[in-house]
Amino acid sequence: MSDDFLLSIIIPVYNEESNITPLLKRLLPIIKKYNHEIIFVDDGSNDNTTSNIKKQIEKDKNIKLVSFLRNFGHQMALSAGYDQAHGDAVISLDADLQDPPEIIPEMINKWENGAKVVYAKRDKREYDDYFKRITAQVFYKFINFLSDTPIPSDVGDFRLLDKSVVQFLNDLPEHSRFLRGLVSWGSYTSDFVYFEREKRFKGQTHYGFFKMVNFALEGITSFSIKPLRIATYLGITSGFLGFLGIIYELLMKSLYPQQFVIGWTGLFTAVMFLGGIQLITIGIIGEYVGKIYKEIQRRPKYLIKEKINL
Ligand code: UDP
Ligand code: MG
Repeated sequence: MSDDFLLSIIIPVYNEESNITPLLKRLLPIIKKYNHEIIFVDDGSNDNTTSNIKKQIEKDKNIKLVSFLRNFGHQMALSAGYDQAHGDAVISLDADLQDPPEIIPEMINKWENGAKVVYAKRDKREYDDYFKRITAQVFYKFINFLSDTPIPSDVGDFRLLDKSVVQFLNDLPEHSRFLRGLVSWGSYTSDFVYFEREKRFKGQTHYGFFKMVNFALEGITSFSIKPLRIATYLGITSGFLGFLGIIYELLMKSLYPQQFVIGWTGLFTAVMFLGGIQLITIGIIGEYVGKIYKEIQRRPKYLIKEKINL
């Protein structure tokens, strides 16, 4: 490690007022041996998060802050952290102490041994509830089935990136930022450090059911157009079934004209089935049209209210 080695820690925070001090208390002793900067990205918090960070900044000039004008989401907060970081190695960490800072030295060792990306991989998910564990599993299975870019499972946004990878991310033109997919798309040499994900220290998760589903859809549509192809196949299948149905009806009508009763149930089922398929496929197409729309608007990814020490 060279003498002027700089470690950047980026921490996205959204309403984490009670976690700031405990987090720093645990993090600082571990990273004090490295020349470091800690960049908090305040994602439009409306509690005392900002003022708590500012109190810490007064005591320690290695602590820095970017504040957003409003909430832009976890991935945008991380992106802003990457935009501001100067470090040779950049580690992203959640503010709620679910990502144990104790494994940071091990991550740095792996980086020194040549890995450009060091993922922190969850060993166990015993502190996450059953629902979160199952949904996460389904998510990784599904995304890896659909996507052309493999995304390692049980890996979140707790990772170390080499400066070159951060540069690669910052240079990407797209607005949509599903970071774990983008990192994996870059196919840099990577390594893993295993850890046990802890319980959230204070407060509640910001990822409820719908936000998680939206996040999954974002991930899938950012990295694959397979859903569009699946829509085509659904159309072909239902069209074929419809064709078989017509032949069946015609045969029945001509062979057994007396017994043939017009079935409302069949008709109703077919209408519902086709209607469902049509709506789903329109929805799938809509997802991609929406993505194109957002990309061509070329709005800034986030809006900054203030910066301190940056
Ligand atoms: N976060 C953020 N913006 C948001 C939601 C969350 O910056 O809109 C931050 C949050 O403060 C935390 C991290 O992202 O540091 C992970 O969020 P959370 O713990 O709620 O997610 P979970 O761990 O439950 O997936
Ligand atoms: Mg959390």
